[in-house]
Amino acid sequence: MNIADSEEMAAHLLERGYVPTENLDEADLALINTCTVRDHAEHRALSFLGRLRKWKRENPARIIIFAGCAAQRLGEKLKKTFPFLDLVSGAKDIDQFAQLLDKSGLFHAEKAQTPAGQKSVTGYVTIMRGCDFKCSYCIVPSVRGPVQCLPSAEILKNATQKAAQGYSEIVLLGQTVNAWKEDGKTFADLLNDVSAVKGVERVRFVSPHPIFITPDFLKAVENNPKIARHIHLPVQSGSTKVLQEMKRGYTREILLEKLDALKERGFAISTDIIVGFPTETEADFQQTLSLVDRVHFSAAYCFKYSPRQGTPAAEMTLFPEKILEERLDILLNKVKGLAESAYRAQIGKPVQILMESPTKGRTSDNFWAQTCQTYPVGTVVNTEVLSVEDTLLLTRD
Ligand code: SF4
Repeated sequence: MNIADSEEMAAHLLERGYVPTENLDEADLALINTCTVRDHAEHRALSFLGRLRKWKRENPARIIIFAGCAAQRLGEKLKKTFPFLDLVSGAKDIDQFAQLLDKSGLFHAEKAQTPAGQKSVTGYVTIMRGCDFKCSYCIVPSVRGPVQCLPSAEILKNATQKAAQGYSEIVLLGQTVNAWKEDGKTFADLLNDVSAVKGVERVRFVSPHPIFITPDFLKAVENNPKIARHIHLPVQSGSTKVLQEMKRGYTREILLEKLDALKERGFAISTDIIVGFPTETEADFQQTLSLVDRVHFSAAYCFKYSPRQGTPAAEMTLFPEKILEERLDILLNKVKGLAESAYRAQIGKPVQILMESPTKGRTSDNFWAQTCQTYPVGTVVNTEVLSVEDTLLLTRD
């Protein structure tokens, strides 16, 4: 989501005569797009902002913009702590970013720059913003607001533009991306429509919510090979009790039903898991471990519970750090070999690789693969997996 938002804000800066650079010393402007989902992410962004004080002092004409979810949460009061900050643009303001730049009086209309040559095969298209859930640990609904689905016409126009620019993989984005709907249209319809755009070879989506894995979606997948067979589905816990206290909207049983349905259709599934939610007992934690054993995820990103001010769970009593660390260690040990075994399980299987360089690309189920021959970037190669080196498939082509 932040990559897409950064691209959108960068496009408005390109229109005002800026070109991207990775070298801060030669930059005239720094745009910091932030995440606030964990305390740690917000601290890193603020500490980076603090380090820019010297950069700004060296040349006061330089401009600093602090954007995204941390900017939304902290607002204009940031300017008290960081008086050298020029603009604060919260995550909810992304649609008004251009007006904000114009109103600031810091920018002059200049000739639009042509974006630097496209480096990736993946183009991001935002299809919805915000979230209607109220997970008890999560700050996103308060910084991003309720769900707003973008119109399908606008989404298809964006996807068509991306495909015309040479992006053959489109990633649809939203906080609960598969909750997208419009009148009679569902997310499954949208997946089919986007994959039918000329030049689109593959469609992915981030981040789905388990409860919207519907029969309609599963049917679309069965009939449409352009929908990637990989899903990053955050499960968060394997215990029904904890899931209910987290207000996730599903039980372990419902979750397993959805995960099984995805597996039956050939999906590789990666996930996010939180350990040490304030009410998680040892038995609850064991349920999470058993879920990991049962599902064979292709990857799992595991986090210690981190309280966020303003969320209901932040009022609950925290576990001592020692218990959080112990549980995280146990879980990390369990998930350590997941990626390697998922790669090994691909040996002998047919794969469709979307080439991201002349000899490397990703399969539909999101495994990196290396081909013997060279192919044009952005094309799809049908081949078979011969062997595996760590986390790289070697093919027979
Ligand atoms: S579904 Fe829950 S965890 Fe995900 S963004 Fe919404 S409130 Fe946060």
